[in-house]
Amino acid sequence: MPACPCPGNLAHILLLNSRLRRTWGVKFFYPRQHTVTREVWCGGVGLHTGADVTIRLKPAPPDFGIRFQRTDLTGKPVITAHYRQVVDTFQATTIGIAGAVVGTVEHLMAAFYGCGVDNVLVEVDGPEIPILDGSAAPYTGLIRKAGVREQDAVRRCLIVDRPMVVKEDGAYIRVTPSDHFRIDCAIDFPHPLVGKQRYSWSFCENSFKREIAKARTFGFLKDVRKLQTMGRAQGGSLANAIVLDECGLLNREGFRYADECVRHKLLDFMGDLALIGMPVVGAFHVHRAGHSLHSRFLKQLMTRPGTCSLAQPSCIPTGVFPASRLPAFAGQISSVAKPI
Ligand SMILES: [Zn+2]
Repeated sequence: MPACPCPGNLAHILLLNSRLRRTWGVKFFYPRQHTVTREVWCGGVGLHTGADVTIRLKPAPPDFGIRFQRTDLTGKPVITAHYRQVVDTFQATTIGIAGAVVGTVEHLMAAFYGCGVDNVLVEVDGPEIPILDGSAAPYTGLIRKAGVREQDAVRRCLIVDRPMVVKEDGAYIRVTPSDHFRIDCAIDFPHPLVGKQRYSWSFCENSFKREIAKARTFGFLKDVRKLQTMGRAQGGSLANAIVLDECGLLNREGFRYADECVRHKLLDFMGDLALIGMPVVGAFHVHRAGHSLHSRFLKQLMTRPGTCSLAQPSCIPTGVFPASRLPAFAGQISSVAKPI
């Protein structure tokens, strides 16, 4: 049976496997890492820089992770997609090393997470990932076009062991242990078409593509004008963002979902969470947060002792456990993970 590329389910199955093997000695399987099958590319404008950029997704070996390579710079520097490489969180997440940066990585990172892709080299010939239509859907389409293949290496997962909360100016992110990857996201904007929105979601690859990936980035006209005078949002247009004026929506096509704004915020969080470098099993409550708080949260999550642990099997799979029997054991598993 092929390993399902759904990170939340896989981590759960990983834990179940361990308990099943120890308790009953039954056969089991482990989730494997995945990469893209072949090279694909796409091009477009960067939302903030306005630069025309082309990206190429290339297959990468196990344990490579997601890395960005600036092919337009001398020495072609490589930047690992990792929370420690975050250098700017104003309006988007920018990663960098030694002066070389790649901006607005979050939608592409969310697509990798949502499609179960662990290892890819992303070549980029400019300072920012193209915004395309403002959502992650074009990237999930690109990944589908490339194909995703299983690799001969076990996928690692991060297990949340203890609750933790990070707060900032009325916003907060809280995480609690869970047997699945869940996000509960809330926003509150004083606008008649937005207001208070809340979206609760439990990870599944298919529902990611259907419910989350298509949600576009959004902004308010007065903020867009301010940003443009600051030299930001240079590539912004109604083709790649939802723009709201004082009481309405400028995009003729309307919203893709009635609550598209909160779904996009959930997408942003997921893209930033992907900078941990592996799937996470825990329940996240994201309230009015943005990229800056996401980044602070990740640093604390990964450094506060006892909050998380790494689940990685110590032996090679010997067979297959019927997935249909797995739900019967849901909720019985405490952590079998090793401390980081
Ligand atoms: Zn976004």
